[in-house]
Amino acid sequence: MYDVVALGELLIDFTPAGKSANGNDLFESNPGRAPANVLATLAKFHATTAFIGKVGKDQFGSFLGETLRKNGIDTQGLIYSKGVNTTLAFVHLKEGGDRSFQFYRSPGADIILQEQEVDVELVQQAKIFHFGSLSMTHEPAKTATLKALQAAKAKSVLISYDPNLRPALWESLSHAKETILEGMQYADILKLSDEELEFTTGMRDLEEGSRFLFEKFDLKIVLITLGAKGCFYRFGKGKGHIAGFQVDTIDTTGAGDLFFGAFLHQFLQKDASWEAIQAEELETMILFANAVAALGTTKKGAIPAIPSLDEARQLFEGRN
Ligand code: ATP
Repeated sequence: MYDVVALGELLIDFTPAGKSANGNDLFESNPGRAPANVLATLAKFHATTAFIGKVGKDQFGSFLGETLRKNGIDTQGLIYSKGVNTTLAFVHLKEGGDRSFQFYRSPGADIILQEQEVDVELVQQAKIFHFGSLSMTHEPAKTATLKALQAAKAKSVLISYDPNLRPALWESLSHAKETILEGMQYADILKLSDEELEFTTGMRDLEEGSRFLFEKFDLKIVLITLGAKGCFYRFGKGKGHIAGFQVDTIDTTGAGDLFFGAFLHQFLQKDASWEAIQAEELETMILFANAVAALGTTKKGAIPAIPSLDEARQLFEGRN
């Protein structure tokens, strides 16, 4: 039995790291991406986790597998492809600090995950099955993702969903929207950013947009993250805004993933059952997730920036 099993993309981001003595750009390899970052947060907080996905049978793939194991994530569901390389992405910093991503994924190993390679038993042994949208940008990984979702549903495994847009990875924006919405049919707990809410619903108003998704997809909990401003939530027993923490932010990479990992950790403490949760308890859980994510923005990267439970509790208890 695992607390959380996640399926999705696993790749290496190369982020700018200054110049060499020759004046050429240097890049630092940052292993992970959303589903792995969520699991690494949970594993750091002592939850049992396993990852399902595909990397190349190459040095980058080995590095990714090792990274997961080093962070306490089970890799029995990780497949090493002989034919296709590990997916890579290069990050470029634009003027003003915005980042752009250049993906080396045509195809990359993560999107050639086949449905028969999905360890269905692993999915069905989980208390929560977690997925995102980037494993649904292409076939055969989309069918593999849907197979895992159907397996989770068949055993009433709770499903958490964190869609990500990344326009460059989709055939078109309408394809992205349609597929992201398709994923919502399976979700119990949904996390979106405010931009993703607007993209999927056309609505900027948090109350209106979250109500629309909540009702249309019969969701149990909707979390809309708002960067430094915290999070808006909607839940059967209430809705509201939980303010973020003021910290010395240096890098927001993966803040949403640390937030969701910390939220799922709190949810597991309530026996992963939303029926047992009161609105005030949910607010406390979100506040804790805000604390974890805020601390994560005070260090560089995603996985290396995950705080310890003690550090998070200290910040959280200062407010609570
Ligand atoms: P990503 O795609 O980078 O993982 P996201 O867009 O899903 O992130 P954000 O809304 O940027 O997520 O941030 C997630 C959470 O992280 C917020 O709800 C908040 O708790 C925390 N957070 C983000 N930025 C800051 C910040 N500058 N200061 C404090 N907390 C922050």
